[in-house]
Amino acid sequence: VLTARRESLQDALTGLANRRAFDQQMAVCLAAAQMAPAAETGTAQRAACLVTSDIDHFKRVNDTFGHLIGDEVLLLLARLMRASFRFHDQLYRFGGEEFVVLMRCDSAEHARVALERFREGVEAYAFPQVGTITVSIGFSVLLPHDTPSGAFGRADKAVYHAKEHGRNQVCSYQALVASGDLVEQVAEGMDVDFF
Ligand code: GH3
Ligand code: MG
Ligand code: MG
Repeated sequence: VLTARRESLQDALTGLANRRAFDQQMAVCLAAAQMAPAAETGTAQRAACLVTSDIDHFKRVNDTFGHLIGDEVLLLLARLMRASFRFHDQLYRFGGEEFVVLMRCDSAEHARVALERFREGVEAYAFPQVGTITVSIGFSVLLPHDTPSGAFGRADKAVYHAKEHGRNQVCSYQALVASGDLVEQVAEGMDVDFF
């Protein structure tokens, strides 16, 4: 029973946690963010970031080298992730070539440093036969009254921006909004007063 339970929370190819595990953990994270939002406590309270990482031109890898080699790339990428991130960062494979990290971070700037380190590590790695692979990464700090789809929407917008602007880069949703490159997304589930 324990094995079955573990498998239902694990991605079969990479051994990373899967989407179902993510949904459970995300609920915990959002509850914690609501109880002690960093901005309100004003202490060194740790914030969390939601990160999505998507392999650049992965279809080409499959088309050129075949699915088996493609799968090996996914496996090796998962290994690079494990080596690059810290114990408290939770790593997920969302099916396909999309990886997600729920990351503890003291600030968006710390998150960016860690994500840049991962991005550079991937770029520097020689994948057998394939050679160089790059990833586009988007992230957003979790907000006090966040929802899973709200947080995902923001991280996805940041990845999309990375893809549209040359790939192989890390984009922060909040930084893109601050610089005027993205228009702030209206928070879901927020009460809007019309009168
Ligand atoms: P982009 O840089 O825009 O992300 O381009 P891309 O080719 O990576 O993006 P796209 O989403 O068009 O293609 C993703 C490809 O990932 C499609 C599919 O062939 C491949 N893929 C998805 N899941 C798996 C898998 O489990 N194994 C392998 N080998 N390939 C997969
Ligand atoms: Mg994709
Ligand atoms: Mg891709």
